[in-house]
Amino acid sequence: MTHMIYPQTNLNATEQLIIERGEGAYVYDNQGKKYLEGMAGLWCTSLGYAHPELMATVNEQLARLSYSHMFGGKTHPQGMALADELAAMVPVEDAQVFFGNSGSDANDTQIKLLRYYFNAIGKPEKRKIITRQRAYHGVTVAAGALTSLPVNLQFFDAPEEALGILRTDHPHYFTGRQGDETEAQFVDRITANLEALILREGPDTIAAFIAEPVTGASGVIVPPAGYYDKVQAILNKYDILFWADEVITGFGRLGEDFGCNAMGIQKPDMMSFAKQLSSAYYPISAAVIRGDMKEAIVEQSGKVGAFGHGYTYSGHPVACATALKVLEIYKRDKLFDHAATLGAYLQTKLQQFADHPLVGEVRGKGMVAALEMVSNKITGEGFADGSLGAYAISRCQEHGLILRAVAGNSLAVCPPLIINESHVDEICSVLGKVLDETLDHAHKQNLI
Ligand code: PMP
Repeated sequence: MTHMIYPQTNLNATEQLIIERGEGAYVYDNQGKKYLEGMAGLWCTSLGYAHPELMATVNEQLARLSYSHMFGGKTHPQGMALADELAAMVPVEDAQVFFGNSGSDANDTQIKLLRYYFNAIGKPEKRKIITRQRAYHGVTVAAGALTSLPVNLQFFDAPEEALGILRTDHPHYFTGRQGDETEAQFVDRITANLEALILREGPDTIAAFIAEPVTGASGVIVPPAGYYDKVQAILNKYDILFWADEVITGFGRLGEDFGCNAMGIQKPDMMSFAKQLSSAYYPISAAVIRGDMKEAIVEQSGKVGAFGHGYTYSGHPVACATALKVLEIYKRDKLFDHAATLGAYLQTKLQQFADHPLVGEVRGKGMVAALEMVSNKITGEGFADGSLGAYAISRCQEHGLILRAVAGNSLAVCPPLIINESHVDEICSVLGKVLDETLDHAHKQNLI
């Protein structure tokens, strides 16, 4: 034990893996054992480890200008270039960019931008935010209240009420369906619930609806066809903004540039980014809003003399230089196309496990997927706790593969985008062994 309070960890568990080094898609522990990083760290190391160009970029920028801030009239070339580059890429109208350091702080910033904007346009009562059950939007005090996973809310006294957080259905057909409801009926029911919630609360009191286009921490949930069309029609009807949390889905993860485009979400009003924006070589996040929203904010801030929000490391020059290089590499190496092709291969290969007695659902899109382990394949009934997921992950590690158990017993797969078919084969070969071992374990423990 060190003097550390570990993040997002069972603090009573004693087993730890000490990772010392990384190269390409692999990391190595302190015994020199090699692991395929099947989770890209925390869904973030898209370009893998020890990338020569990124190491050079970080070093060059450290030598050129290791720090400068953006408060009170200062800026720097890397920050300006990155904002322009990002604005040109995203599907937000006349996109405007605010930089931070993490996905959580990007979402906190968005809440503040929403408040500022609606105050500026004389609609201060428009302040509630709709999030979804099982959503993950970070863990800071405000973003943490948008997150719906119990472990992230319980005992933290999240200020849900003060922030006007409303929760609506999670779009997971497999676990959320009622009786013999079809997918289309499921979508009709949960979107009708959304509309009823809006009418009950009063559309004039609701600012935005936040969604991960495809979720991560809640188990890699790909909503059924037609879901976002219906959601967007309702939001448009009641003048509620669509806020896409693309912290995981941004930059090729779903096989297209952005999750919104991959999922048919039209013109989001706001987007949040982090992780793959810099391939995790340097922490950086971006909160993106529509141009007219910024205009109103600019006008309002003029009345008080300053826009009073920003972090010491907003637009850190090394982070911006790194992200610029990452975006250049994505484009140059056509990595989003690669993610589409390889993603199709990954999804097809993973389907071989659909018939496994432990697997209730194999799902995913592009280069992210999950296998949900269940106790009853027919009903989709799960297990009482997440111990089976933890067991499977430890077996993966034994076989040299790093994955994560999310939402209890779903095994998430989210490898770096730079991998090739042989890496996918390696992941599937280990998964096959691990599922059998886990089934054996489940029998021995009388779990099924
Ligand atoms: N939003 C989503 C969709 C995420 O997956 C995450 C992190 N996994 C966050 C926000 C928070 O990002 P961070 O951990 O960088 O604060």
